[in-house]
Amino acid sequence: MKPKRYIALTQWIIAVAVLGAIVTAYHRWIHVNPTTVALTLVLYILLLAARMGLRYAVGVSLMAALCYNFYFLPPMGTLTISDPENWLALFAFLATSVVGSRLSQQARDEAELAQARHREVELLLSLSRELLQAEDVVQLLSSLPAILLRVSGTSSVIVYLLEGDRIYQAGLPGPSVENPAQLRQLALSLPDVETTPDGTVRIPLRAGVRPRGLLTLADLELSSESYRAIGGLASIALDRAHALENVARAEANRESERLRTLLLDSITHELRTPLTAIKGAASTLLTNDEVPSEARHELLSIVDEEADRLNRLVGQAVEMAQIEAREVHMNFGPADLGGILSEACGTCGSVLSEHPVTVTLPELPRVLCDPKMIVKVLCNLLENAAKYSAANSPIFVAAERKDTTVLVSVADRGIGIDPAEQDLIFDRLYRARNRTMQTGGTGMGLAISRAIVEAHGNTIAVTSQAGHGSVFTFGLPVAEENA
Ligand code: ADP
Repeated sequence: MKPKRYIALTQWIIAVAVLGAIVTAYHRWIHVNPTTVALTLVLYILLLAARMGLRYAVGVSLMAALCYNFYFLPPMGTLTISDPENWLALFAFLATSVVGSRLSQQARDEAELAQARHREVELLLSLSRELLQAEDVVQLLSSLPAILLRVSGTSSVIVYLLEGDRIYQAGLPGPSVENPAQLRQLALSLPDVETTPDGTVRIPLRAGVRPRGLLTLADLELSSESYRAIGGLASIALDRAHALENVARAEANRESERLRTLLLDSITHELRTPLTAIKGAASTLLTNDEVPSEARHELLSIVDEEADRLNRLVGQAVEMAQIEAREVHMNFGPADLGGILSEACGTCGSVLSEHPVTVTLPELPRVLCDPKMIVKVLCNLLENAAKYSAANSPIFVAAERKDTTVLVSVADRGIGIDPAEQDLIFDRLYRARNRTMQTGGTGMGLAISRAIVEAHGNTIAVTSQAGHGSVFTFGLPVAEENA
């Protein structure tokens, strides 16, 4: 037997049993006048109407009228009535209990309606709170069905979007899961909320008046206003997520534009210095035929060095811009750090020729990285270590595991970096004010290194003491943990 029927049957049995108990009690043990019996029965029927509903109250009224007539109205023990006044009494009893029951039922209905409305308002409130938390369309769409499922208590949710013919689903597969073509047809044609015979509710989603999609909910009993409100909320949340995304995109474009202009400005400024030197040397050589050969050689060396510097600067600026614009494709894969280190030492071997390099590499897991890019970072750190320390001073390379990261460090005993400048040296084109300036460089190497390490989801940092040396450390994700 279905649970609903079972409950109804139990309620009928209880209602009739209580009636039987009242009638028996008055008939057998408590002897009072018929009016008291009638009032007790009316009271019971009113209570019944308030607790169980009109159906039970009317049914029990009829039974109560029969019992009242049989047991309490003369002649007792028969269903006939001798005194016409008693007919009136019986009719009054029946009328009072039915009218009273109706009024009780009405009050009960209104209370239930108020409660249902209250529940619906609460549902809409928590739905709006949850839906308005999503920051972008992808996040919203992937969480929308689950939120609806959790907040509304429905057993199945399908969100269909016309844009891209996309379906998002949560809960049980609905009793009437339509295919995308059917959903599309419904989304385009459904004028308002519709409930199918199997209890599935279809709610059109709109952007203004334009159809946007369809929401279907199963096993949910709400008013049609609430369904419309749910559809409205979902549409508003989608609009909001779209708008937020547009704002974020515009913001990112603006920032990228700002960075590009900044880069261009600083590069233009940096290009001037070598260009001025080249122009000066070239003009002197052109206008003065009698430049002594020693001076001539010096001027040509200036042209050569500055042209190299220009070339490096332009190359690095382009590389930096590409990394920042994510135009550089990184080939991430598990790699052995030992191999990467020996490749880096090999690549910049000539620079390191004047420095003893000590590598301390314990047993380490493989790291997830683009080896070519990490070689570039290591080369830059090794070159800097060599460049900014005296000849023959040692360089130490080490690595250690810390949780899911492998930390790689390059240490030197060179000129060190002033604490105030330790953050700035990672900015593009920044060069420290100490003796650095006497050493060739562009100020782009560390900025590029930082961009590469950040693309690996990690950071690069320096600890340094002016005059005593520096330690540069960067992290790489452990391959197994981050596969
Ligand atoms: P570059 O070396 O071409 O100037 P980098 O971006 O590699 O550019 O470095 C930026 C600045 O940071 C350098 O100009 C230098 O002042 C400082 N620096 C980098 N590495 C070291 C180091 N190992 N010791 C001292 N200073 C360093």
